[in-house]
Amino acid sequence: MMMSINAKKHIKTGLMRLSALILLLSSQFVLAAPANIDSLRFWTAPDHTRLVFGTSSPVEHKIFMLANPARLVIDIEDSGFKADIPAFSSNHALIDRVRHGKRNKGGLRVVLDLKQTIKPKSFLLKPNSQYGHRLVVDLFPKKQIVIAETPKSNSANKNTPPKVVKSTKAESTKKKWVVAIDAGHGGEDPGAKGHRGTKEKEVVLSIAKKLAQQINQRDDMKAVLIRSGDYYVGLRQRMEKARQARADLFISIHADAFKDQRARGSSVYVLSNRGASSEAARWLAKGENETDLVGGVSLDDKSDVLASVLLDLSQNATKDSSASIAGHVLSNLKSVGHTHKRKVQHAGFIVLKSPDIPSILVETAFISNKNEETKLRDPKHQTKIARAILKGVNSYFSGQAPSSATLAQVQTYKIKKGDTLSTIAQRYQVSMRSIKKANAMKSSTIRSGQVIRIPS
Ligand SMILES: [Zn+2]
Repeated sequence: MMMSINAKKHIKTGLMRLSALILLLSSQFVLAAPANIDSLRFWTAPDHTRLVFGTSSPVEHKIFMLANPARLVIDIEDSGFKADIPAFSSNHALIDRVRHGKRNKGGLRVVLDLKQTIKPKSFLLKPNSQYGHRLVVDLFPKKQIVIAETPKSNSANKNTPPKVVKSTKAESTKKKWVVAIDAGHGGEDPGAKGHRGTKEKEVVLSIAKKLAQQINQRDDMKAVLIRSGDYYVGLRQRMEKARQARADLFISIHADAFKDQRARGSSVYVLSNRGASSEAARWLAKGENETDLVGGVSLDDKSDVLASVLLDLSQNATKDSSASIAGHVLSNLKSVGHTHKRKVQHAGFIVLKSPDIPSILVETAFISNKNEETKLRDPKHQTKIARAILKGVNSYFSGQAPSSATLAQVQTYKIKKGDTLSTIAQRYQVSMRSIKKANAMKSSTIRSGQVIRIPS
């Protein structure tokens, strides 16, 4: 059969369109191909257990609880299960076992047999340098509420000689400096990695524990570990844990990494001004008011203006203290090894943003430097680093009574009609000069409604 040129052209374009359509359909098919659950990890924290499903592509999912017996059901659309199921120890607080099966239309159902009712929370994580797509399921037990743990001092250890303690009654009831020690990263977040495979999360936890032990051997300080095992704690949650423990100081411990393997030495950071000012805005924003305590005053029952004054006062005092502690710690680290930078560094790290708790971040050494990686793994060197940090902290604290510097308890006064600076000074038994100094006042003029800080 003969065809006109026109008809041939027509068929040709038609074919091209068809093949384009097939291509389009097949590419859609690829996009909609079933995802695979390639891996399953879990991390047990004192207050929750985190399950992480590694998936080959983003997944759609749904979770819900079933009662009697307690089970958590995770339905994942268009997925296959290719992962090894990790073994849960028989004394795991929440999970008994994990099983899975196919559902209709290519769906997957994962069931956790639980030992108690929990509150689940789930979210997806995008790929990063370490992992691909992930589905995270957090299980929170309904009953227990765990605050930061206080590690026991090893002074009871039989191998160490008994410590001579002057045990007068006054001393045993004396307020101690509370030091919150934050080992960076943890659990799903390994932090930086060394050439020999050393994980930052592991060495910093060892250093943090050694520091806590050394602190708890003293009778004037108490350590609180923000994380005590291999699990992740959110950055804001780290600050919150420190606040719940009424910490006088927050120390975050990390190990540095850089592409140039020659980079070496320790650094100490405090919050940069930019970080501080944006944080002020955040703190005053609604949403966090339940736990937002600035200068011992909850922000939610104060006007914004008042809150901002309190925050300013507290933040300035905190900034000065942080800088001073950081300086002391840095100069002590110089005796342990190299320092990367001679001066205290400034950066906008979230964990340093507590407006009322002096906070520093110590990059102990470069894990990316082969020599320093070896040192970071050495328990003796870890002890030395911890000792240097403690020395720095001690030289800052010494000469101050814990009560006077507990910024969470800064006293403020709202000026009423008829008040004068001298009547206020008399009432609080402080000098007018110290009030003026604490509030950076140039004159003795005060106005009603003004909030001032009362120095202790
Ligand atoms: Zn780090």
